[in-house]
Amino acid sequence: MSENTRLAEAQQILRNYINLKRLRNTPERQKILETVYSVNLPFTVDMIWDYLQEEFPVTRVTVYNNLELFFKAGLVIKRSNGNEGVEYEACIQTQTHHNMCCTICNQLFEFKDPTIQLFLSQKKYKKFKMTNCSVMIYGICAKCQAKINREKRKQKIQQK
Ligand SMILES: [Zn+2]
Repeated sequence: MSENTRLAEAQQILRNYINLKRLRNTPERQKILETVYSVNLPFTVDMIWDYLQEEFPVTRVTVYNNLELFFKAGLVIKRSNGNEGVEYEACIQTQTHHNMCCTICNQLFEFKDPTIQLFLSQKKYKKFKMTNCSVMIYGICAKCQAKINREKRKQKIQQK
């Protein structure tokens, strides 16, 4: 999916969501969504706030409130990033990539799997129209796995 269709899809979902919740679609909200969908990496409230300062000054609270609203609307995913706090990531793109999260070091990896992609694109649910979905696989990354194996080997040597 190109950047523009991703954003258009996200804007449509946001419009539906705010109509449903009887909220206002403010210029700030639109600008934050555009920014979120132009970044291709996980980001924090501060990063978006910093980025908008010159062109479109908004308060940190506005950025935070909108990101939380995007999360509820299914437009971004959210995860805790150790000391740095919460990270968000635009997620109307899961048709092309999925995420893996290492439960030990918290690192997020992107991967592509045509089988999952095809499976999801053909999925139909009764009385429910799927507009987007995100796949997050939790596990242990290669680096952490290697560390664990080294520790195990050390322990074995010490036991001998
Ligand atoms: Zn790891």
